[in-house]
Parts: sequence; C-alpha cells; structure tokens
Amino acid sequence: MDRKSTILMNKYEVGRMLGQGNFAKVYHARNIKTGQSVAIKVFNKDMIMRVGLKEQIKREISVMRRVTHPNIVEFYEVMASKTKIYFAMELVKGGELFNKVSRGRLKEDVARKYFQQLIEAVDHCHRRGVYHRDLKPENLLLEENGNLKVLDFGLSALSESKSTDGLLHTTCGTPAYVAPEVIKKKGYDGAMADIWSCGVILYVLLAGYLPFNDKNLMDMYKKISKADYKFPQWFRPEVKRLLNRILDPNPRTRITINKIMQNTWFRKGYMQIEGPQ
Ligand code: ADP
Ligand code: MG
Repeated sequence: MDRKSTILMNKYEVGRMLGQGNFAKVYHARNIKTGQSVAIKVFNKDMIMRVGLKEQIKREISVMRRVTHPNIVEFYEVMASKTKIYFAMELVKGGELFNKVSRGRLKEDVARKYFQQLIEAVDHCHRRGVYHRDLKPENLLLEENGNLKVLDFGLSALSESKSTDGLLHTTCGTPAYVAPEVIKKKGYDGAMADIWSCGVILYVLLAGYLPFNDKNLMDMYKKISKADYKFPQWFRPEVKRLLNRILDPNPRTRITINKIMQNTWFRKGYMQIEGPQ
C-alpha cells in the first residue's frame, strides 16, 4: 500500500504488513477514533475480476459473520474503494502457528493444547454449517497468551451449497493438507475433509515435518490416497492410535469430531469453554 493511502475510509490508519496469502495482503491498522488496533485484509479488485474471486469473497464475508467463537478470528466490517475490497477484523498478535513449527517440533502438551483449540473451533464451524477447507498452520494464528485463532475462510463452503448428492465437489485447499476423497474428485463430506486436515496439522506439530510429502505433486497425492505415512519413533502409542483414526483414507470410517473430543489423549488437561451450544 502506498503512503498516500495509509488513511482508509477516514477511519483507519494503516501500518505495516502482517502477512500475505494466495489471495490477499493483511495489514496492521488503528481505528483513528477509538484507538483500537485491527487487522485489515486487502483484496485487489483487478485480481478479483481476473481470477473470479468475487463469489469467494462474498462467501468469506457471510461465513465470518456466521461464526463467533473464542478460537475464531472475529470479523468487524467490510469496506470497498474503486480498486480494492477491505475486511477489518480482530488483530491477532502472536504470529502464525506455522512460524512456531518451522522452528522445530512442539512438546506433546503444547501441541495438544493447540489441537484442542483447533478442534473446538472446527466443531463450532461444522455446527454452523461451515466447512473451512483450508486448515493448515499458516491459517492458524496465536495470541500472545498462546490462545489459538482460526482464520481465512476464503475457501470455505456452506452446508446449504451441497449439491443434490449431499456432497461438496470443489477441489481446493493446500495439497499436503488435503484429504484423499477431495483429491478423488467424486464429491466429499466437508466435515470429514476438515477432520483429515486437523490430523495432518497434529502430526506436523508433533513431528516438525509433514506426514505426506514429495517434490512431485502426483506422488504426494498417491501417498495421501493410500494414507502412506510413518510415525517418528518419539510418537507415543496413544497419539499414534488417535492419528491412525484421523488419517483414515476412508471418510466413512474416519473418526468424527465428537469421538475425537472423547479421546483420552485429547482430553488430557482439557478445559472445554462452557457456553451456549
Ligand atoms: P489469504 O486468503 O490470501 O490466504 P489470509 O487471510 O490467510 O489470506 O491472511 C494472510 C496472512 O496474513 C495470514 O497467514 C497471517 O499471517 C496474516 N493475518 C491474517 N489475518 C490476520 C489477523 N487477523 N491478525 C494478524 N495477522 C493476520
Ligand atoms: Mg491464508
């Protein structure tokens, strides 16, 4: 963003860039009137037109308005100028979970704490009929107190957009985190596909590397389709049992969120946030 446009809509003073994804850049900003710090996600309208992201952005807005949870980034407002679309949202200050993992694997208790919060957030989304479809450490942010926040509903789907077979058909997400049934392109259940991605995330947190990886994309997809992965020797039996249930290539027999929440390894030190369901 150039210097002249650092005041946005006479409301926000826009500062440094916080991060960048495939579709947008996100900046730190301050509400001039209230002094509140926020994050502003900026989409370039040219790009929106070029790659047909219009529907995707509309969906991202309606989804963010629909989900409210302590482990999901809060949406404030949407603004538009001649050339750009802006989302104002809650600022999360502790950086991406990705940065933490890229410095090395996490201790089991720490990984579990993040995984519990991730599952809480995903459960909330599914109850609201929202499938995230792009769960990965780059889309998970940490607050300074270690609280986890899910963000980036850019590729999410709503349950009402299922086709007549009751399944979703858009192949999307990030290759290493995508479920086998999504790769197959024969329709999939959005909830089960999200659960698979949570399993890949848990593996990455505990191992420090991906369960399915290959320079060649087709070879990576082959490994995913067969759930062809190995555990490092430091994974404990309880963790391996849970991961084997999540990284089940058959979505019909894969463990559900409810069952994950009842799992003994998952429940250790678990403090569910009480509140209306
Ligand atoms: P894209 O849809 O292009 O992937 P994201 O919404 O994932 O964009 O945002 C890109 C990056 O910007 C994130 O990976 C994160 O590093 C940073 N970011 C996004 N939202 C926030 C936020 N609310 N607070 C702090 N950083 C953020
Ligand atoms: Mg992203």
